[in-house]
Amino acid sequence: MLKTAGYNKVEKEAQAAAAVNFTYKEGCKVKIKKDSFFRSREKVAEMWDIKCLNCNAKVLLYQKDGRGRLHRCYLNRIFDPDSYSSLQDTVQSKKEMPLLKCQSCNETIGYPTLHWEGRLAFLLVHGKWYYEKSKIKGI
Ligand SMILES: [Zn+2]
Repeated sequence: MLKTAGYNKVEKEAQAAAAVNFTYKEGCKVKIKKDSFFRSREKVAEMWDIKCLNCNAKVLLYQKDGRGRLHRCYLNRIFDPDSYSSLQDTVQSKKEMPLLKCQSCNETIGYPTLHWEGRLAFLLVHGKWYYEKSKIKGI
């Protein structure tokens, strides 16, 4: 095998990205959550792809409520992938939460936190992520 180390790295990253289980595909529409938190945040929401600044892989499909800057990702607004969207049903405290990591390059994107409203969330690390408006629209 005459593969360079660099080639193997790219191949491994591609395999890791493919292994991430995203349920919602491009062009899908999802029903956005309109609870009291939505109503207290200008009653507007968009679906965002939270992406890893290190490798550009998609980390989360996320419902961003309101117009302000994003500082944390609440568990009950994570739609994808299943490994993170399932947490809202399975964890009761921040001690039970994993770190938010890019599943492609393993970079840490966020840390467990409990917001003053009593909502579990990932506090995002500045400079580790960016967002794009998702091609999956909220209705
Ligand atoms: Zn990454």
